[in-house]
Amino acid sequence: MRIKLEAVPLNLRRGKPVLRKSQGTPPRAPLVCPVRGCAETLSWENSQAICSRGHLFDRAKSGYCNLLQVQERKSRQPGDSKAAVQARRRSLARGLGEALREAVCSRVTSWSLPPEGLVLDAGCGEGYYLDALCARFRFEGWGVDISTAAIEAAARAYPIARWLVANADRTLPFADGCFDLITSITARKNPAEFHRLLAPGGHLLVVVAHENDQVELRGALFGEVPDSDRAGATTAAFAPLFELEDEVVVSTRAVLDPTGLKDLLMGSYRGERFSAQAGLAQLGTLAVTLSYRLLSFRPR
Ligand SMILES: [Zn+2]
Repeated sequence: MRIKLEAVPLNLRRGKPVLRKSQGTPPRAPLVCPVRGCAETLSWENSQAICSRGHLFDRAKSGYCNLLQVQERKSRQPGDSKAAVQARRRSLARGLGEALREAVCSRVTSWSLPPEGLVLDAGCGEGYYLDALCARFRFEGWGVDISTAAIEAAARAYPIARWLVANADRTLPFADGCFDLITSITARKNPAEFHRLLAPGGHLLVVVAHENDQVELRGALFGEVPDSDRAGATTAAFAPLFELEDEVVVSTRAVLDPTGLKDLLMGSYRGERFSAQAGLAQLGTLAVTLSYRLLSFRPR
């Protein structure tokens, strides 16, 4: 196993990739109708997705399609709220996702994935990382998230990929073995479903927060340092179906004022837990560590 520490200073911003392709070509990913007991092929058309039995899902004006079935929702508006999505967008606009984006792309560069391969980002949020993968590697990208607000934002900002509202904890609406790469970036993990969807020889990249992620913020607000070992728990959960290939740590630090700190809290995976945001106003400006573990898996 290889463990490497990368630090990418935030002031070394790299240019955003400019490659964009139209969605005029029909997708190659075999979609499957999500209606219980159907499982017919779902045809992705300009304004809708429809199966041979006539189950029909309208595509929104922004292009995404909501395939979430009623029984798959736990609440009326599951997943990240619009406020959380907007907070994350502001954090990304401050450059806070750049180090992780570069690390994800660097990891993918080292694999010999087929040109224009099929990529699924499960729990893609507002789409920042999938957009980078599609732009740089010409992948056919599919982003899935349970939050309509997140998928709406993704579809508006990144027409290079295709976006679905669906529950990544359940059965995802794709045929077996169709993806060359699956990413789960600080998102929910579904080892059995990822294994079903990954092509033989495919790659799975799971990003979890490092124990030191936001350690200063958590320490200042809650006296909690460090966090739990998410990598160990993740590797154990995936072990029956996946072999851990290697692990890369990416860390950076950002100096944030109270507005930036609030956006970071609201938009991060800790957002719900820390929704109270008590004490934030008293913090002033704080240097915050952002740190992740990139776990690369191969299917057994
Ligand atoms: Zn159907």
